[in-house]
Amino acid sequence: MRPTGKLHLGNYVGALQNWVKLQHSHDCFFFVADWHALTTDYDDTSRLADNSLEVILDFLAAGLDPEKCAIFVQSHVREHAELHLLFSMITPLGWLERVPTYKEQQQQMPNKDLHMYGFLGYPLLQAADILIYRPDFVPVGEDQSAHIELTREVARRFNQFYQLKGKPVLPEPQILLTPAPKLLGTDKRKMSKSYDNSILMSDEAPVVEQKIKNSVTDRPKLSDRGSPDRCPVGNLHQIFSDSQRLAHITEGCTQASITCVECKALAVESVNSHLAPIRERRHALAQNSGKLRQTIQQGAQKATAAAEATMTAVRDAIGLLRLGAVAGLASKEEAAAGLRVPDLAASAGSDKERREIITKSWAEQVSKTHLLKQDKPDTFISRKGRKVGVHTAQEREHGSWEFSFPERSLNVLVLLAEDPGGFLSDYVIPPKILQEHWKQFEREQGERGTTVRIKLKKDTGGPSILLEQSNLPVQQYLGDYSALQ
Ligand code: SF4
Repeated sequence: MRPTGKLHLGNYVGALQNWVKLQHSHDCFFFVADWHALTTDYDDTSRLADNSLEVILDFLAAGLDPEKCAIFVQSHVREHAELHLLFSMITPLGWLERVPTYKEQQQQMPNKDLHMYGFLGYPLLQAADILIYRPDFVPVGEDQSAHIELTREVARRFNQFYQLKGKPVLPEPQILLTPAPKLLGTDKRKMSKSYDNSILMSDEAPVVEQKIKNSVTDRPKLSDRGSPDRCPVGNLHQIFSDSQRLAHITEGCTQASITCVECKALAVESVNSHLAPIRERRHALAQNSGKLRQTIQQGAQKATAAAEATMTAVRDAIGLLRLGAVAGLASKEEAAAGLRVPDLAASAGSDKERREIITKSWAEQVSKTHLLKQDKPDTFISRKGRKVGVHTAQEREHGSWEFSFPERSLNVLVLLAEDPGGFLSDYVIPPKILQEHWKQFEREQGERGTTVRIKLKKDTGGPSILLEQSNLPVQQYLGDYSALQ
């Protein structure tokens, strides 16, 4: 949703109301598309931040639950921009020029210079917005189907050029058509902010009343027969009134047996009783900036984790150089191919079995260049007789892994950190460093012979990874197999 300010009832019944339902049945990502606002409103950004916040408030007031879905702001997840850039390398200009809205919007806004690269490319940014979450479905209205078709074409083209181990990286998502009931603006045109004919979700009850009372109707004269389908007030009844009231006004309107004044008073009642709890939630949230901040932050973290997993696969498929490939002695192909847990551990029954399969597969892969002999499920012996402990952990919160294993005298410690996309990063802590820090691990853990717990954490200041207890940056040991001789 673009941050055009407070949302109106057209946005609510056309999208948001459906999203609230979808969050219970699907794993959903909903965001405020603030970069998209710049494609047309690049010359005035004075309200951009405030408007983004208003939209988030409307999302939450409508009933989107941050515990059930990811709610975030597009510019907080920069991976969208990276994927957009990579797509821009492979998308023919003609594909963008023929998107129907490109010409239409230029014609609709004759006073605005839209001969901008960003404006032409916005459907591609939208393709990146969608594909970065590798979704099965995109919930949109009919008018967006050309954009989703372009998204599918871009995914297809990407997969033609780039694959990961012969498999496509990006899905071709399906449209999940949003049933959007008709809702005219108060002047009988399409409800739109720019026509000044909308009722806002957050309008107070007296404002709603005034707007409905001032609405143009389908019966210029009292004796005229009308149709609720063609009347903004009739539309409101169709959406917000119960079936009995709807039947009553439909009959009254088509038979000219009620007045529009009566009909409007009933519509005010129906709309206001629907909006009352939404307004109440919005007021409460607007007072609670801590909660709002936490929601936006939590949403960005959840979205970033999913987006980053896709980008890892995308970068690998394209063949961009991985840092691990520089640090390690593994061949470039091996490092770039990465090890993916779902491929490795598909047959695992239990968690223990899963860990053993991952550990073993990693050792097999590494053994192509550095022979490792298995001693115990999690211990291997290198060619020079070094004892190598290999342990796996899944990402817990964003950027944090916790390894725990029975203490055992080791020469080399290998930490296999699994990201949400199932990719493994392997940190190989060499003997000298391990010796220096092992005592500290033990000191902090207590007695010898107990379980060792090691926390690996992404550093907020940059991409380096720290072993928390001893504050040891381990990024340099990523894929560095020199200690496995
Ligand atoms: S009776 Fe109601 S639905 Fe019919 S034209 Fe008047 S306001 Fe519209």
